[in-house]
Amino acid sequence: MGEIVCIANQKGGVGKTTTSINLAYALAMLGQNVLLVDFDPQGNACSGLGVMLKEGEKSVYHLLTKTATFQDVVRQTSNELLDVLPACKNLAGAEVELVNVRGRENMLADALNPLRKMYNFILIDCPPSLGLLTLNALMAADSVITPVQCEYYAMEGLAHFMTTISKIKQFLNPRLKLDGGILTMFDARMNLSKQVLHEVSQFFGDKVYKTPIPRNIRLAEAPSFGQSIFDYDPVCRGAAAYVDLAAEFLTRRGADVSGYKEALMAGPSACNYDFGG
Ligand code: ATP
Ligand code: MG
Repeated sequence: MGEIVCIANQKGGVGKTTTSINLAYALAMLGQNVLLVDFDPQGNACSGLGVMLKEGEKSVYHLLTKTATFQDVVRQTSNELLDVLPACKNLAGAEVELVNVRGRENMLADALNPLRKMYNFILIDCPPSLGLLTLNALMAADSVITPVQCEYYAMEGLAHFMTTISKIKQFLNPRLKLDGGILTMFDARMNLSKQVLHEVSQFFGDKVYKTPIPRNIRLAEAPSFGQSIFDYDPVCRGAAAYVDLAAEFLTRRGADVSGYKEALMAGPSACNYDFGG
């Protein structure tokens, strides 16, 4: 049964979407069947993979409100193992529209649970808020990953966010576990980045991912071409970091990914890792 992983931080612009797109893509390159759910009305995760909705086309909003089926909404990407559920602007209104609907916080879980048998991983890209959309994502998820940008205010709001997660776990979704924190836009030459690495490591303990994502201009450019980093510039530092991150993600789940770099160089379909964990 597939695991549902939520990529969340209420802080804006910390690298949630960049991580969702490129971690999802890298996992697919490592042989995993992956569904990426764009759950932010901004729709950056789907547009960043070249998926654009035309007028009248259905989105994850319609799946949520049961006005479309999964088959109506799902889109393919340039990697055959990676599918996307696109977002649309209607999602922004959902918070208000659904306010009187019973079970409104479980609508995404209801939509995604039947899909677990089709995918190894379902990743959810969350909006930068702690509203009903993020609550739905945390109710659907088994685990949560929090990207933290290496900047002066990195830790701001993080403690509050983590308290929210432990309350959701305690009262609403006992399955939910914190998978870890990921450092993004890391610049090894800057003292500030090292300082943030230290603080974030103290905060997350052994749950901090050992692979920091470097600040890399190619990662910032790729979405404007509607491409993951692996289509846009597969040999840049950002691409290498996201492959390492995906390998670390799988290792945490008991997979043996030794030799993944060589396997990837041999071709995209060369990898097929089994799960022991
Ligand atoms: P929001 O909260 O608005 O959804 P977000 O947390 O999803 O934002 P992103 O959209 O992934 O953050 O990133 C914010 C900006 O930083 C984008 O312009 C993105 O291209 C850029 N960016 C993200 N990661 C990196 C990186 N490692 N190096 C350089 N630029 C990056
Ligand atoms: Mg985003």
